[in-house]
Order: sequence, then structure tokens, then C-alpha cells
Amino acid sequence: MSEVLKGKLVAEKLKEDMKNKIEKLKEIGKHPKLGIVRLGNDPSDVSYEKSIIKNCDAIGIESEVFEKDADMTTEALSQFISELNDADSISAIIMFRPLPKHIDEERIRNVIKPSKDVDCMHPLNLAKIFEGDISGFAPATPKAAMEILLYNNIELEGKNVVVVNRSMVVGKPLAMMLLENNATVTICHSRTKDLKEITKKADIVIPALGKPKFFTKDYFTEDSIIIDVGVSMTEDGKLSGDVDYENVANYVKMITPVPGGVGSVTTTILLNQVVNACENN
Ligand code: NAP
Repeated sequence: MSEVLKGKLVAEKLKEDMKNKIEKLKEIGKHPKLGIVRLGNDPSDVSYEKSIIKNCDAIGIESEVFEKDADMTTEALSQFISELNDADSISAIIMFRPLPKHIDEERIRNVIKPSKDVDCMHPLNLAKIFEGDISGFAPATPKAAMEILLYNNIELEGKNVVVVNRSMVVGKPLAMMLLENNATVTICHSRTKDLKEITKKADIVIPALGKPKFFTKDYFTEDSIIIDVGVSMTEDGKLSGDVDYENVANYVKMITPVPGGVGSVTTTILLNQVVNACENN
């Protein structure tokens, strides 16, 4: 039977540390506050927003939603973000993405103040990940995967880690974070040949395709450690990871469940970065 790596335990540990930090900040008159910018009413944005607000409330972080018209211009959004950059009461800013198609995302990415950019939009924060500089803000999902590995004392030094994703929000920053921890990293993607042979040779496999139950037992060995980043819906409307959990979970060494794995740590990482932003600003 595989060891199940539950995200909840990691999130609880992070929250405990955060509560102490927040108390200390409040003693010196600093109050962490997250500004949430939402354009339009996309249901997945609204649902993510609710979960962020709930988590903020539970831990003592203030939050304020700035709901804007979906047809707002790039110029107007840029102007609004500049105002939030200058607002002393706002420690950190998150904007739901993807932004509407007419918005010049490249321009907006460059407007947000790097020291308030807890969702790692600004090129400077992203560049820091690639330089191994931990003073910036990391994208929450790869950081959550890293926290699960570190919390469970999973050795990374010299280990073969396969990341199946090459996006800028998941695969590439995650590969850099793994390299910082002295892992030997392979990045796979849709053009990779013989994926099964590659994942079978790895000590740790981190899939992030967004294809439910794609990875069957054939991709792993009894010694595989799997951190499943993928989240999507099956045809019968159930939330699923990239791994065929029922088929694989009684075979491999360790595995994160979906739901209850990486996703349950992601929001906590974001909040942790809000607290750090308040500390530093
Ligand atoms: P994305 O840009 O669509 O990336 C998907 C990646 O999977 C791409 O690199 C793609 O390769 C690769 N891929 C697709 N089919 C493949 C195949 N058959 N074999 C090998 N590689 C394949 O999505 P993303 O924004 O990075 O997010 C990835 C997934 O992570 C999402 O779908 C979501 O499920 C999950 N996610 C989870 C959280 C969380 O908190 N748990 C947060 C964000 C995202 P190419 O580059 O060649 O197209």
C-alpha cells in the first residue's frame, strides 16, 4: 500500500508558522491585506476568490475584492494596478488569470509592483526563480509541490525527478526549484517520446497535464514517488488528478491524492507570500 502524502498536513504546518508571524506584525502595527482584482464574473474565478477570502479570514489576513468590468481597457487596468501599488493599506495584489483576451497581459505583468506581486506575474519575480534567488515571490503551484516534498523529508539530492509539464506557471519554475535542491531534473511534454520509459526510471514523478487518470500503473514502479499536480474533471463530473489513483495508489511508494494534495497547499502558499509582502513592504 502506498504512503499517501496529504496536503492538509503541510498546509496546517505552514498556517501555524504564519499565525505567529501575523501576530508579531500586528504588534508593530502592520496588517497584512490582500487586494484581489477580478475582471468579470467567471465562475472559476469567483469560486477561487471565495476560497482565498475564507482562508484569509481564518488566519487573520484582511482581503478586499476589486471587481471590474470584463471590458475594462488595458490602460484603465494599468492605472488601477498603479493605484494599488501605491496604496499603503494593500500589502499584496493578485489578479485572476487568464485576463480577458483584449487585455495586453504583457503590459499588465510589468505594471504590478514586484514587492506586492504574490502570484509571481512580474518578469522580475520569475527571473529570480531562474537565478536561484529566493527573495522574490514564487508561483504558488510549483512551490506547493516543493513544500510537500520538503515536509515529508523526501530526499532530492542526486535523485532523478521527472516533471511532465513545460509551462511557465508550473513545469519550468518547478524544475528550477528542484535543481536548487540538487535533483537531476528531466522535463517532459507532449512531444516527448517513450514517456513511460522515462517516468519508470525516475525516483520522483511530477505530472501536471490536466488530463484525468492519464498515468496508469504502467508509468511507474513500486519505488515511484508521485506528486500529482494535475487537476481536472472526469466525464462523470468528478475531480481527478493526472494519475489513475485507484489503479496506482496501492502500487507505488508514495503518492499525493487529488483532491487533498497539491491543490490544498497552493492557497496557503499564496497567503504565506501575502504575509511576507507585508513584512517586507
Ligand atoms: P498547460 O500550459 O496546458 O500545460 C500542460 C503541459 O502538459 C504542457 O507542457 C503539455 O506539453 C503537457 N502535456 C500535455 N499532454 C501531454 C502528453 N500527452 N504527454 C506529455 N505531456 C503532455 O497547463 P498549466 O497551466 O501548466 O497547468 C497544468 C495543469 O496543472 C493544469 O491543467 C491543472 O490541472 C494543474 N494545476 C494545478 C494547480 C494546483 O493547485 N494543483 C494549479 C494550477 C494548475 P506541451 O508544452 O508540449 O503542450
